[in-house]
Amino acid sequence: MAHDEKPTRTCIGCRTRRTASALVRFKVLGGKLVVEGRKLLPGRGAWLCPSQDCLSRAVRSRGFPRALRQDVLVPDRAALWSDICSRVESLRQ
Ligand SMILES: [Zn+2]
Repeated sequence: MAHDEKPTRTCIGCRTRRTASALVRFKVLGGKLVVEGRKLLPGRGAWLCPSQDCLSRAVRSRGFPRALRQDVLVPDRAALWSDICSRVESLRQ
């Protein structure tokens, strides 16, 4: 691997490998799925393209509990999507 190669992660929706910075990371906090903030928390995360398609697929295929290796309360898809949007917004600033 080249030294300057960017780390890649697999989206749990479409299963595509992309650079980590192009994806949104999710964590379990108190048993509930949350979008991770700017500062990465330690532990296992689930990665997703900031796309409604990928979110739908991930929810349908139970990609979150699989990626996080634990049961997790997945919030309403609309609520999750708005969290993803504000996360993406904050990254642009
Ligand atoms: Zn994806």
